[in-house]
Amino acid sequence: MNQIKKLKINLSEAITQSLNLDDFNEKNCQADILRIDKIHPIISGNKWFKLKYNIESALEQKYTTILTFGGAYSNHIIAVATLANELGLKSIGIIRGEKPKELSHTLKSAKENGMQLKFISREDFKNRNSESYNKSLVDVYGDFYLIPEGGASAKGRKGTEEILCLANQEYSHIMCSIGTGTMYIGLVNSSKNQQIIGIPALKGIGDLLDQYSLFIKEEKKEYCKIFYDYHFGGYAKKNNELIKFMNDFFETNNIPTDFVYTAKLLYAFFDLLKKDYFPKNSKILIIHSGGLQGNLSLPANTLNF
Ligand SMILES: *Cc1c(COP(=O)(O)O)cnc(C)c1O
Repeated sequence: MNQIKKLKINLSEAITQSLNLDDFNEKNCQADILRIDKIHPIISGNKWFKLKYNIESALEQKYTTILTFGGAYSNHIIAVATLANELGLKSIGIIRGEKPKELSHTLKSAKENGMQLKFISREDFKNRNSESYNKSLVDVYGDFYLIPEGGASAKGRKGTEEILCLANQEYSHIMCSIGTGTMYIGLVNSSKNQQIIGIPALKGIGDLLDQYSLFIKEEKKEYCKIFYDYHFGGYAKKNNELIKFMNDFFETNNIPTDFVYTAKLLYAFFDLLKKDYFPKNSKILIIHSGGLQGNLSLPANTLNF
């Protein structure tokens, strides 16, 4: 895809960095973080991998407009807006909830990237995947290529199967954050006899492995593990302990995290390490899935980075 080459996605930026585990020497573990957050300033982290095959397909079919869904702080929305802009495509974002008096940073910059925003009620948002709603969108916007919220589709999962190719060592465990689970499923299906640990950023979501079961290869199922207790109260919820953790983690490792996903993931990693979850000599790879723009919604001076 020649057009895709126009994008300033730089996969060689996705380096692995070893975390400082000096306080845990007796555990004899190694942990590396895979910085896929660094591949692009906005289309960062797992969003690129989830969008890649969607965009390729849209371009192949000569669509000129992309339509997608998301919340006011969505990393997916800003990634789609930026990607469409860089490719010279139109984009439409259907946003959950009433239009706020002041747009979030995310929506402002989506708009600056030419995204047309439409706010719909939470009730309508629930019906966004229905045929009748889709038809009403076509009536208003004409022909468009639809990317589901969060890039959660077979194409999204396929793209995330390419993430682990960027890490060139052998690991015993791989850890990632979970929103829709698209990346988790892609990692599981592309792993090699490694345990894949998922940390959901949401609360009260039921048995995820049961929900993902159809999409996960049978022989990989025994390697799946999810810890449900690191959501800090729910999606995008945070407390002082989490913020302090983010600042301490940055001070020690010089790596920024976002409060919605990757901070909770890394908090979970250290908590599991403390609780001796990992056998001696484990080598753990943690995926830095991006999302740093979300921190702009925090009051100034909350973070030391
Ligand atoms: C969107 C996002 C996730 C969640 O990914 P899913 O594939 O939806 O589970 C995790 N981390 C970051 C930083 C994200 O932006």
